[in-house]
Amino acid sequence: MPDGREIISAALDKARELGADVAGAVPAARLVGCPSAVAEGVRGSPADRGTYIVLGLHHGPEHPELDLWEEGRGTPGDRILVGIAKNLVRWISERYGIRARVVRYQPGDGGIYLKDAACMAGIGRMGRNNLVLVPGYGPRVRFRAIWADLEAPGRDLPEGDLPCAGCEEPCTCACPMDAFRTGRYSRDRCMARMDADKTAGRGRIDHCRACELACPERDEA
Ligand code: SF4
Ligand code: SF4
Repeated sequence: MPDGREIISAALDKARELGADVAGAVPAARLVGCPSAVAEGVRGSPADRGTYIVLGLHHGPEHPELDLWEEGRGTPGDRILVGIAKNLVRWISERYGIRARVVRYQPGDGGIYLKDAACMAGIGRMGRNNLVLVPGYGPRVRFRAIWADLEAPGRDLPEGDLPCAGCEEPCTCACPMDAFRTGRYSRDRCMARMDADKTAGRGRIDHCRACELACPERDEA
């Protein structure tokens, strides 16, 4: 039987085979006190053992339909990610007899802070637009995660220049809500725009992505 590290490595390969564009792993215990959880004053992970495997799907501007949101259905991109996650859970369970489950989306609903998890898993680094900048894809990646009953040491986070160093911030300048006016992202201002989108829209809603689409970080793999 391979050890936890070997199974996680195989699971990351399998995640890409199943359709994820990027994947990474982080010990669940690290998410308990992740930066977003600390900022919100809550626990960042319902589990303090095991491993979260984070899955990312590229949402390039040539596929805007992936982001069209519907009440009760979410987005097509998220449904694709959930399908990949379910298949990965099944594969881990059947191949290794390891318990695993798809993680809920919202932290307040038993989920985790997915962007923090993606950074801690080494998938990318947080940009000034409050989105994870992923090498090869920029900020145009959506995330989901599974939890698996596997233990392995996490990886050291990358050092060196931050991806936003020297950038003139077209992302924050593009925000119609001035959500970065204090120098930090205002979730309340951004959510006000999201709520307005929902009120104005019918059927499938094309939410604001201005801070994401303005980023010049590379979009091609
Ligand atoms: S999604 Fe739109 S409203 Fe929200 S921070 Fe980005 S640009 Fe501003
Ligand atoms: S536009 Fe520039 S500052 Fe904003 S996230 Fe992209 S690289 Fe960073």
